[in-house]
Amino acid sequence: MMAPEDAFRLLADGLGKAGTPQLFEQLVDHLAAILGVSHVLIGAVQPDNATIRTVAHWAQNQLQPPVSYALAGTPCGHVLDDRVCRYPDDVCARFPDDPLLREMGVVSYMGVPMRSPQGELLGLVAILDDKPLDLPDYAAEVLRIAAAQAGAEFARHAAERERRSSDHRIEQLAYWDSITGLPNRRHFMERLTEACERVRQQDGALGLLYLDLQRFRQINEAQGHECGDRLLAAVAGRFGAATQADEFIARLGGDEFAALLMTADRARLGEAVERYRHCLAEPIRLDEQRFNLALSVGVARLPQDAEDAAALLQNASIALNHAKQDGSRTRFFSAAMARELRQHELLKSRFIDALAQGRLALHFQPQFSLASGELIGAEALCRWHDEQLGWVSPGEFIPLAEGQGLIRALGDWVLSAACRQLQTWARQGTPFPGRLCVNVSAQQMDDPRLAEHVQQLATQMPPGLLGLELTESGLMRNPEQTVRITRTLCEAGIGMAIDDFGTGYSSLSYLKRFAADTLKIDMSFVRDMLKSSHDHAIVATIIAMAQTLGMQTVAEGVESAEQAEALRALGCTGVQGFHFGRPVDAETFASRWLSPR
Ligand code: C2E
Ligand code: MG
Ligand code: MG
Repeated sequence: MMAPEDAFRLLADGLGKAGTPQLFEQLVDHLAAILGVSHVLIGAVQPDNATIRTVAHWAQNQLQPPVSYALAGTPCGHVLDDRVCRYPDDVCARFPDDPLLREMGVVSYMGVPMRSPQGELLGLVAILDDKPLDLPDYAAEVLRIAAAQAGAEFARHAAERERRSSDHRIEQLAYWDSITGLPNRRHFMERLTEACERVRQQDGALGLLYLDLQRFRQINEAQGHECGDRLLAAVAGRFGAATQADEFIARLGGDEFAALLMTADRARLGEAVERYRHCLAEPIRLDEQRFNLALSVGVARLPQDAEDAAALLQNASIALNHAKQDGSRTRFFSAAMARELRQHELLKSRFIDALAQGRLALHFQPQFSLASGELIGAEALCRWHDEQLGWVSPGEFIPLAEGQGLIRALGDWVLSAACRQLQTWARQGTPFPGRLCVNVSAQQMDDPRLAEHVQQLATQMPPGLLGLELTESGLMRNPEQTVRITRTLCEAGIGMAIDDFGTGYSSLSYLKRFAADTLKIDMSFVRDMLKSSHDHAIVATIIAMAQTLGMQTVAEGVESAEQAEALRALGCTGVQGFHFGRPVDAETFASRWLSPR
């Protein structure tokens, strides 16, 4: 038996490997020597709480491979009830259901629980011997110290594993898209940047495909986001299967994916695009539904189109926007696209300034009665002259204002300017005789408080003097809301015309419910009504329908006396067009069309 000083010195030596995985092995070795027993084991309780796995096991003078065993019916089971257990003799007889004891050929056992420094039960340290236990006095203290140290070490290892796995999870989150399992945007950009660097050094080339699912937003909105996510995952699975060895595909976000290819060869990039398209040719089935998905694709190449990663991605995205806008399915980036975009950006920033600084103007185009030839009203049309860009058509800046969320500001300006103009004409002694109509864009109709807002702006106007033109397609965006808005405005004495009629598929039942009193026949029908019997029939139908509904008709874009005559014959009430008068500024309008009081 070892002297206590020697025993504790040896134990301290055994603990010398703390902080390394060898601690457990050295500890069992030293414990066997200190206590003079044939077996020492350190065991960790497994997550099922019913099994022990050995962390280190010393027997027959050497380390043993790890084993797992069930706790039930073993002395260890008692230790894990959180007790120090001593069975100095006949341990096999006390635990007849423990085959391991017999196999090891032991007769005695002592075990102490192993806990973390926080007190959590982690497992046990046990000694077993092939003869009855004859332990020195310090044995219990040695085992207690050994178990405490082993517990601390074990807890450290567990924390380290946990940290590694959470690092792994963080990495996973940072670089992989959780919905599709594909690399995410950040991952893609890092890969792209590396590839650009390599290509620069080796005079190579790259191609980037920017893939966008057509109409995915509608599916997402109609079917719900959960379904949308599952669809994206299915799409990603197909893309993944279609990707070739030297390609890298990622989900950039939303319904946008990107593929990086190590070639700038147009034909090979075109083939890759077709391959990705083709993998969506078969509809995707989710539950009972089938989804037909198609792609818009923008392609950009390095070094042809860009010098670095960011520019390559941006140019592919510009090409994609072109593909989406013009309905073509694939577009390769071109320098013209970049020029156009720069022009658009310039237009945008100058328009924002023009609106903010009140540098827009209104022109007025007269409308006449076909029966009497008298002026019955006018349409106010917004004009913008920029010193750098020249005249910019409303067909260009209205959509731009809509895209920039500026349409309400523009609409307010137009409405106030129209009201001011009516007052100015009245003050100058040339009062406006009919109704001045202001255009309201489809997007303004989305605002449920539009009616209230217009009423506020038009407070000082005598009723009947001001009217609004709402396009047919704008009215049908949210017909129930339109019904409410038009009725409120009608009660406030503001007239209402449906603009560009014939192009927007109104339902007749709604036409009756909208409080509009005028249909403006779209100029596309008027233009061809003398050449095309089809268009003539449409114009005739619109006029007949308006008569049935008790509404007036104003034909737009009348450019000839013949058209005017044909319209009169069909019973059209009003006309507007170059034949009668072009849009002109307020002064010209007054001098031409307004008579002094
Ligand atoms: P719109 O409301 O249908 O206006 C009629 C357009 O037809 C005007 O174009 C007018 O100049 C043009 N026009 C009139 N008579 C003839 C003709 O005989 N022949 C031809 N070829 N064209 C004719 P404009 O001024 O370029 O406006 C285009 C569109 O921009 C307008 O179509 C309207 O939708 C929109 N718009 C114009 N001003 C405003 C505004 O203040 N607010 C909003 N929201 N939209 C506006
Ligand atoms: Mg109009
Ligand atoms: Mg129109």
